[in-house]
Amino acid sequence: MVPLIFDIKRYAINDGPGIRITIFMKGCPLSCKWCHNPESQSPGVQKLYTESKCIGAQECVRMCPEDALTLTSKGIVTDYEACTLCGICADVCPTKAIEMSGRPYELAGLMQIIERERVHIDQSGGGVTFSGGEPLMHEDFLLQMLDACGENKLHRTVDTCGFADSETLLAVAQKTELFLFDLKLMDEAKHKKWTGVSNKLILENLKLLAQSGANINIRIPLIRNVNADYNTLTQMAEFLAALPGKKPVVNLLPYHNIAANKYNKLGSKYNEFNMEEPTDEEQNRALAIFEKFGIEAEIGG
Ligand code: SF4
Ligand code: SF4
Repeated sequence: MVPLIFDIKRYAINDGPGIRITIFMKGCPLSCKWCHNPESQSPGVQKLYTESKCIGAQECVRMCPEDALTLTSKGIVTDYEACTLCGICADVCPTKAIEMSGRPYELAGLMQIIERERVHIDQSGGGVTFSGGEPLMHEDFLLQMLDACGENKLHRTVDTCGFADSETLLAVAQKTELFLFDLKLMDEAKHKKWTGVSNKLILENLKLLAQSGANINIRIPLIRNVNADYNTLTQMAEFLAALPGKKPVVNLLPYHNIAANKYNKLGSKYNEFNMEEPTDEEQNRALAIFEKFGIEAEIGG
């Protein structure tokens, strides 16, 4: 089945080497409380609404075939029992206050979009990055895209949370030049609390991937009150130092709350859990911890 794509980012410079095009697929087995792309978690189409952009023209109310929309003092409200997510309201909204997230692309169509970036990609030593959501949820499509990119001599990066079937991961590794692998927490109970799933499979998969000789960059979201403490980071550094093969580079990504607006658009609550940006001191301490274990780490990337 063709996955839904919720974004295609051109000129991406933080998703692997050079200038890249990043394809964001919908659907993720995790539900991290800090997720910057909350619309990526559901594999299905979603409707987003920005009240501040709504001028109350009510074109959407008139055109909705299901009578699912009402103008209220809080803007347009959708009756999701009636709404079929047909997207007509988004099409007719003059200010784009209503948007739909997620549309299908065929492989050939996506390859055409990628090829339009060929000049920047070739000149910068860039490539294509598959992200999400979790691209490994869409095994067949991902493998086909990786084959097509490989045949066209495009560098391939896969950005994964690691919660995937191990055989799938190793099959993907045969066709991938670089993995961006997320590491969030080492304690299983805390991992469950903050992401909704156990980290056992993720850690096992990371070991398997390292054993396979894959090129891996580790991405750690650095979040005060979640994982920026000395013990958690030391456990992570210990784990990474013990991986077989070449030591992975670590990118520490300091948390910030720029995604709050997206949660509003989805009508979801954000940060009820006291997540905070790490201080400069905490960021420097994190770098020093990885350095102590002989692991190259940097802020950002
Ligand atoms: S793994 Fe990534 S995409 Fe999935 S919920 Fe967590 S932050 Fe969001
Ligand atoms: S997506 Fe379609 S059914 Fe749902 S509110 Fe908009 S127009 Fe109505």
